[in-house]
Amino acid sequence: MLKVTVLGSGTSSGVPAIGCECAVCRSTDPRDRRLRPSILVEVNGAAPSAFAGHVRSILVDTSTDLREQALANRIARVDAILFTHSHADHVFGLDDVRPYNLRQREAIPCYGDERTVHDLRRMFSYIFEPPPQKGGGLPQLALFRIAGPFTLGGIEIVPVPLLHGRLPVLGFRIGAFAYLTDCNAIPAESWELLTAGGGVRTIILDALRRRPHSTHFSVDEAIDVVSKLGAERAYFTHICHDLPHAETCARLPAGVQLAYDGLVLNVA
Ligand SMILES: [Zn+2]
Ligand SMILES: [Zn+2]
Ligand SMILES: [Zn+2]
Repeated sequence: MLKVTVLGSGTSSGVPAIGCECAVCRSTDPRDRRLRPSILVEVNGAAPSAFAGHVRSILVDTSTDLREQALANRIARVDAILFTHSHADHVFGLDDVRPYNLRQREAIPCYGDERTVHDLRRMFSYIFEPPPQKGGGLPQLALFRIAGPFTLGGIEIVPVPLLHGRLPVLGFRIGAFAYLTDCNAIPAESWELLTAGGGVRTIILDALRRRPHSTHFSVDEAIDVVSKLGAERAYFTHICHDLPHAETCARLPAGVQLAYDGLVLNVA
């Protein structure tokens, strides 16, 4: 059993956007307040022996809002981090994992594709190429390049190559669940990864807004992906301030909703 928590469902600027007075940015519906995109996947229900390396809590991306997300959702531990890509909204909360290092007393393994690992070393050189003097706390992290499916906490993590405009990024499939943020195209080989072995039944998928965009699926494009995939439940994420939660959900097909911050999904 997986417990998936949507920590942030917003686009890179977050919603409300700074200085914006539009209806969504002024909305009092808490589901219209969207932090930067991230999810937490908690592994439970598996036999204790399956917890290789006792991984139970997997964070996908370290969003700019990680501290706020960790507090709001009372995230007690982070055993591993999967990175989709290195855009600012997905990595700039990385420094906020330090409390988990203190509590867990070990480095947190971080997984990304080659470009992402390279970018993280460069963007966070103070972490990965620290000066000899050890003063203030630095996150303790171990970077690993993803080369194919791998296992965490006894469950298989399948990286799913996607296109985010021209940038190759990763989505992740875990059992019958998939998280595909920041994409506007799914290569043919990745469809096979998503449909193999009974396919994906629950998906969280990028849908920025109704108008087309050069690097993100629009709502209609995302609906097409969901129906092609035959997923039972779909939740759209990376949402901008064009989409009011309640009004948009009322017009979506059965089984499809906008995600919102704090949404919890239990996936068999
Ligand atoms: Zn993004
Ligand atoms: Zn706005
Ligand atoms: Zn991006």
